[in-house]
Amino acid sequence: MLKALSVRAQQGRQFIPDPRSGRPEGLRGLPVLTAGECASCRACMAACPTSAIAVDPLQIDLARCVFCNECVVVCPDDRVRFTPEPSMASTRASGLLVRAGSSVEPIVPDEVFRRHFGRSLRLRQVSAGGCNACELELNAAANVNFDMQRYGIDWVASPRHADALVLTGPLTQQMAAAVRLGWDAMPEPRFLVAVGACAISGGLYADGDAIDRSFLSEVGPALFVPGCPPHPLTFLRGLLDFLGIA
Ligand code: SF4
Ligand code: SF4
Repeated sequence: MLKALSVRAQQGRQFIPDPRSGRPEGLRGLPVLTAGECASCRACMAACPTSAIAVDPLQIDLARCVFCNECVVVCPDDRVRFTPEPSMASTRASGLLVRAGSSVEPIVPDEVFRRHFGRSLRLRQVSAGGCNACELELNAAANVNFDMQRYGIDWVASPRHADALVLTGPLTQQMAAAVRLGWDAMPEPRFLVAVGACAISGGLYADGDAIDRSFLSEVGPALFVPGCPPHPLTFLRGLLDFLGIA
């Protein structure tokens, strides 16, 4: 017993008291761009693996960005900087564009979904060809640190018990039918959350031959959570904002 208490004392407090206020040290989160004229090098565009960055005006599309930091490394004028701010989700893919002086479009809470799911939300996760990093971070959202269950949010095994489908991966042809089956099995009202650059835009695999994103064209995500992978706080804060949970 004494040993257990001493281990507990050494570990200290593990849970994050307020998931809304944390800015994890070392996190490569929301980028900030500096206003001004670019040198004509276009080095950032050449270095970017997903064509997420453009110049004139300088902008980063977080729908595509894989947060690799290459644009920061090659920019001779230090015009790109990643901050530890995890809040970057948006209700529109076009709202994920970051420019000098403007950031991600704030989430507009959905009143219908807030009424239905503001006190209890069940999520079914489907990995549709991703690398498993997004899935690991989503799993962490339910661990003792982030503890999304404190808001009544939890994972379920069956789409029949789910209110929202949380999609990761670029949506491969192999997974297209399974995603559709899962969605069709869910009761209404329901919504779709796209997590990670792969799910939002195809990410690194956007031009791949094995991709079938027709489901996403038909069923538009209600919430876009950028990152590669997104931090659990990016996911959790996105959901809380979307459902209007204070
Ligand atoms: S951090 Fe994003 S914008 Fe910059 S090079 Fe990598 S993918 Fe492109
Ligand atoms: S967005 Fe990044 S971390 Fe998530 S599945 Fe795609 S490659 Fe992996």
